Amino acid sequence: MARPVNGDPSLFSDAILSKFDVQTKGIFNYEKFRMFCVQVFGTDEVERHEWRVREIFKLFDANADGILNDQELYRCCNWIRAVTNPVHVLLIVDVQNDFIDGTLALRKCGYGQEGLEIIEPINRLLRDGRWDKVIYSQDWHPENHISFFDNLAMRELHPESKITKETAKPFDTVVFSKPYLKQILWPTHCVMNTWGAELHKDLLILPSSERVRKGQHPDKESYSVFEKDADGSSELEKILLAIGGTHLYVCGVAYDVCVKTTCLDGLQMGYQLAVIDDCCRGVKPDDVTATKKLIIETGGLVACSNRILSLINEGKRSLEMAHHAAKVISR
Ligand SMILES: [Zn+2]
Repeated sequence: MARPVNGDPSLFSDAILSKFDVQTKGIFNYEKFRMFCVQVFGTDEVERHEWRVREIFKLFDANADGILNDQELYRCCNWIRAVTNPVHVLLIVDVQNDFIDGTLALRKCGYGQEGLEIIEPINRLLRDGRWDKVIYSQDWHPENHISFFDNLAMRELHPESKITKETAKPFDTVVFSKPYLKQILWPTHCVMNTWGAELHKDLLILPSSERVRKGQHPDKESYSVFEKDADGSSELEKILLAIGGTHLYVCGVAYDVCVKTTCLDGLQMGYQLAVIDDCCRGVKPDDVTATKKLIIETGGLVACSNRILSLINEGKRSLEMAHHAAKVISR
C-alpha cells in the first residue's frame, strides 16, 4: 500500500491523477471518474464494461454520496497506481514430458485433448511478449508420492473411502487415513530428476526465467503452484514479492487441475490475473468449461494470446482485471 506524499493523502492523489488528462481540482464525482477510466482503459473497453466502471466507483465511494472525498480518493488512487504500473509475469504451468507425451499425456485420458498444441502458442508469447518475468512450474514428485496409483499399498485407507485397495483403478478417488486426505490416484508421473519431469524439449526457456517445483513432499498433493512450504511460505509468492509482480498471466496444463487451482489461489491472494485460453489444455472438456466460468466469477480474465500480447506490449488495460484489483484494494 502506498504512503501519502509528505503524509498528505490529497498530495498523493494529485500526483497520481496529474499524469492523466483529467481535471484534478474540485469535486471528484462519477462523471470525472468515468472520464478518467476512458483515459486509462480506452473508450471501447469502458463502453463494453460500463457496469464495471459503475461498480468500481461504488467500491471507492464508501459513504455512497456520489463523490469521492479525500480519503476515498486516496484509496482510489492506490487502485489507479496498481492498474497503471503493471509488473507482468508469465506463469507456464507444468509443460512437462509426462503430461504431453508420457504416462499422464492428456491425449491418453480419453477426452481428445492434445497437450502438444500449446507449445507453439506459448513459444510465441515468450518470443513476442515484453514480460517482466517468466516462471516455469514443474510437478516434481518423489517415487513414494501419495498421488501415485502404484503406491496404493504403502498407506492405509480411511474407513470413509468408498473405494477399497482391491477395487481401486487409476483415476479413482480414495480417502487415506494417515495423512487424512482425499486423493485422485494418478499414474506415476513427474518423478523428480527423470525424463518425465523435464520440461518439453520444444518449449523455449528464457535465460532470466525462474523455476518453481511443487509436490516434493511424499504425503502431500499440490495442484497449485502457490503450494506452501512447511514454514507456511510459498516459493512462487516469494518470487512475485521480490519483483513486485502485480499482473499474472497463466497458461499450461492441466487447465482443469493445476492451472485452475493456481488461478484461484492467485486471485484469492489479490493478483490481477488472466488465464491464456489457447495456451492451456485440460483433462475433460466439461471441466475446462466449468474452470473458465469459475475463474471469471472469481475475478479473473479468460483471454486468447493475441489479447494478452496487446495488454503486455501495447499498454492496453483490462477492466475485468482492474475490477478485481478494486475489490481487493477497497476491502
Ligand atoms: Zn502430480
